[in-house]
Amino acid sequence: MITVSDVKQYQYCPRIIYFDHVLHVPKPPDQKLETGKEKHDAITSREKRRKGALFYDPQLDRAEKMFRVALESSTLGLRGILDYLVKTNREFIPVDYKFGHSNKGGVHLNHKYQLTAYALLVEENYKTIVRRGFVHYSKDRVNVQIDLNDEIRNRALKMIREIGQIIEDEIEPPCTRNRGRCTDCEYGRYCEGHKIEAGPISH
Ligand code: SF4
Repeated sequence: MITVSDVKQYQYCPRIIYFDHVLHVPKPPDQKLETGKEKHDAITSREKRRKGALFYDPQLDRAEKMFRVALESSTLGLRGILDYLVKTNREFIPVDYKFGHSNKGGVHLNHKYQLTAYALLVEENYKTIVRRGFVHYSKDRVNVQIDLNDEIRNRALKMIREIGQIIEDEIEPPCTRNRGRCTDCEYGRYCEGHKIEAGPISH
């Protein structure tokens, strides 16, 4: 079973899936983990105290709020723990917290598909259709709404299948074409992509 974080990593670079699930290299130490947990708890406490949900949206005054919701789907072979789920009598709204900056007020692509993967899990676990979700960026204090249309949904499903394929067939994917990602990559020490001088890498 893969995790929702794998979907985020796959969007960043498919090769990370190979390092993690096929080669099982030691996971890079996550120095942000403890800070992230503290910030997560702080956002959750503030959100619990509010009358409304979703950071003051008055339309969600009577919403039910659920935090750290464990979700799993044997059909998708996917699991994850969602930061925050808002439930009204009309809809379920998944929310993922991020402790960095937004993409100039918008969502980062890997976060968009991570949120979509959560939405697919919410749909299956609660037998519902999720129309929208949010990514909350704490540094910018913005909530970016993601409208979950068929295109996004199908792309996320395709990614989940492709991740499974890499693991099952033990395929080493090519380096990402986006060389800037190699500079910040946590798996750089295992990968030639990190060492190659700037220049095009083909998929
Ligand atoms: S260093 Fe670059 S090519 Fe290698 S896993 Fe990281 S992002 Fe992908």
